[in-house]
Amino acid sequence: MNPRLSPSVSVVPLGAGVVEFFKTNTRQQVRLRTPDDTILHIVNGLDGTKDASEIATEHGATSQSVARLLSYLERNGILDNVEPSSDFDAYEVFRRPVSFLQDFSTSHEHLVRMWDALRSARIVVVGLGAVGSWVACCLVQTGVRRLVLVDPDVVELSNLHRQLGYRTSDVGRPKVDALSDALMRYRPDLDIERCPVELSEGSLERIEGGVDLVINCADKPTVDQTSKWVGGYCMPRGIPHIVGGGYNLHLSLIGQTVIPGRTACVRCFERQLERDNEIDPTRVKKLQVPNRKVGSLGPLCALNASMVAMEAVKVLTGCTDPANANRRGEFDITTMAVSYTAYERLDDCDWCGEHGKYSGQGR
Ligand SMILES: [Zn+2]
Repeated sequence: MNPRLSPSVSVVPLGAGVVEFFKTNTRQQVRLRTPDDTILHIVNGLDGTKDASEIATEHGATSQSVARLLSYLERNGILDNVEPSSDFDAYEVFRRPVSFLQDFSTSHEHLVRMWDALRSARIVVVGLGAVGSWVACCLVQTGVRRLVLVDPDVVELSNLHRQLGYRTSDVGRPKVDALSDALMRYRPDLDIERCPVELSEGSLERIEGGVDLVINCADKPTVDQTSKWVGGYCMPRGIPHIVGGGYNLHLSLIGQTVIPGRTACVRCFERQLERDNEIDPTRVKKLQVPNRKVGSLGPLCALNASMVAMEAVKVLTGCTDPANANRRGEFDITTMAVSYTAYERLDDCDWCGEHGKYSGQGR
């Protein structure tokens, strides 16, 4: 295909012989020093109507210098990688997400690979409540097609204000059914498996076939406990997993992303959290009330879930490294700021450490 400038790239002459390429989706800036305005003219004329030799002739440049320039632009993701659009599954529906990913791609083939990874990935979402229901919807809107939904609960009237996809007429129905139906109304070509079981140690073993990512949004009995059960399933299989958070005390928790063998695992986090709490007991603020029903707000759940879904896209496509590996954050509604705390991978971790039971993953 003839070279064409990516529609999301702005070309900004900065003066003193410097041209900046600004990618609007990622805010990445690429700067190129040029001896004169020829490169600026060539770049601004890249509309897909001419091939490299026609461009060289038009601008009185050598074919080698034009080839070098085009190679540089391609390597830096400045050329349009979308065409031919027929290479992208469901392109007409998802052309905007495809265009979004384009800023992370270095070639048409790379972009198609990222899109295919998203479309073919099989993702388990555990817990379809305040965070999980939003996560599932966000993923489907992004282009994800294959989901395994895990939750034993039925829809309650008090769920509706913060859990996406459920209607008043769904009250009493299993959440896996109500959410599957809602998602299928959005995209009938989805591949959704319903798993109405309570998460416990070993309960994910019943899922047959390969899994590319597990997102834990279950908080019973606690987020820490469910994350360990999810980690216990994922670590020996090398499956990335994301802690989506819950709502008891952790409504604003931006959980960690775990890539087995590469990042701190759930146990690394647990040990360091215990250590921090021993150093400063005031950090431990547990509600000692049985059956507590603390406040909750839909927009806060949506924000949390959006961040989880964005991390999922990074893990699945490899477009860029997940940001929440080795850290977790807390969102403060009063300041709208997220504060992050870093946690390291422990060499002596009994899960992922050198002598840990899952040490085979990446060590
Ligand atoms: Zn570990």
